Amino acid sequence: MAPPGVRLFNSASRQVEPFVPLVPGQAGIYDCGPTVYDWQTIGNLYRYIVSDVQRRTLEYLGYRVKAVMNITDVGHIVGDVDQGEDRMMLAAKREGRDPETLARKYTEQFMEDRRKLNILEPHVMPKATDHIPEMIALITRLIDKGHAYIAADGVYFDITTFPGYGTRLAGELTQDLVAGARVDVNPNKRNPADFALWRAAKPGDLQVWDSPWGRGNPGWHIECSAMSMKYLGETFDIHSGGEDNLFPHHESEIAQSEAATGKPFVRYWTHVRFLKVDGGAMHKSAGNAYLLQDLEAWGFEPLAFRLLVLNNKYRQPLDFTRAGLASAQNRLDRWRGIVRDAWQATGGTPIDVSPDDSRRTAFVAALTDDLNTPAALAQAEAVLDLAATGDVATKRHALETPFDMDQVLALSLRERASDADLSSEERAALTERDEARKKGDYKRSDELRAELERRYGIRVKDTKDGTRWERVRRKGA
Ligand SMILES: [Zn+2]
Repeated sequence: MAPPGVRLFNSASRQVEPFVPLVPGQAGIYDCGPTVYDWQTIGNLYRYIVSDVQRRTLEYLGYRVKAVMNITDVGHIVGDVDQGEDRMMLAAKREGRDPETLARKYTEQFMEDRRKLNILEPHVMPKATDHIPEMIALITRLIDKGHAYIAADGVYFDITTFPGYGTRLAGELTQDLVAGARVDVNPNKRNPADFALWRAAKPGDLQVWDSPWGRGNPGWHIECSAMSMKYLGETFDIHSGGEDNLFPHHESEIAQSEAATGKPFVRYWTHVRFLKVDGGAMHKSAGNAYLLQDLEAWGFEPLAFRLLVLNNKYRQPLDFTRAGLASAQNRLDRWRGIVRDAWQATGGTPIDVSPDDSRRTAFVAALTDDLNTPAALAQAEAVLDLAATGDVATKRHALETPFDMDQVLALSLRERASDADLSSEERAALTERDEARKKGDYKRSDELRAELERRYGIRVKDTKDGTRWERVRRKGA
């Protein structure tokens, strides 16, 4: 049976469309990865949370997804025009490391942040530096077909050979940007908006490769065309990115890919809006380019940030505030508390009931409506509220639905609620206290209760239904 339909906003048609994959039941997704020259801000991480929800939604509905995300570990010129400075090189100089060490460090950091946010690992994560031959082959095809030309300082794509360049995605939105590119004066280019496919090596360049056009390094756009087509085919289902990727990056990817293959490149383009901070733009110079570790240092959990993101429709700008994060953390704590109480009330035994169908149907309807995550969260919350107020039988029944929904929401509801969250030492201490209490040894039981809180940050409550515990201090805090 074919999975249920999903509707996605497609930047190419500028409307919400039914998602019809190339192969029924499968979906190939390419996500523009980060340039690994620095820490990723919460603005970047926000985008990958949305991509994660998109992928998880398709998987939840039964699609077989192949998710590819590249790692840009070469070049990426500041401002994305052909002059300017190379980000990887600037960072290598700043930190006194070679670009490879730098890229490894920031890739690991990025993957660690993703894990904390429960973002699934891509199936394939190609690095640009491992795909120079594929890029050279693609550039060669473009030269052979007359779409690219060799100049004194590199190889350029001739935009006059690709009608509609700069208008395929956001249309009018990109016109100012295209006009901006047209004032880029470089006597080596035929047209000011022509973009570099290959740049000739300059003195001091740290990353250079041989090519038929001499030593140099690839342009940024060509890497995504070469790697996406290598792993997903010359035409594939979904390409996602941030709204800042629309032009020139994605428009250039379309031009060079379709000019080379003569085939449609991507069927659905999905773009996430910017993250604002306190109503303004996020910028290093404004001191508000926060990292995930900043949020953690303020005492918040990474998953509270995930919940904050899910509470916003991805095509609306998200305004990040500390107060907003605090309320997301409170909401998450409340949910965890409900799940933990219900879990402990039912003895933590596996619950063999099917999820609540009407809630689940509404949840699916929200997600398939262009990833309406706030509405999906509301469904999960409604079931949790039922669990909070109901008797043991209701609790038992009510838990399975949010656990099922958490396959998409990924807020670790089950993991945090269950015994899995206890270390063996913690579990032993809890059991020991329980036994002391049952034997009527209240002195020992009180000692152990105090120790549980002091050593492990676990507070024990005795209720008429038995012992309950909660973490009053996060693990390791
Ligand atoms: Zn890209």
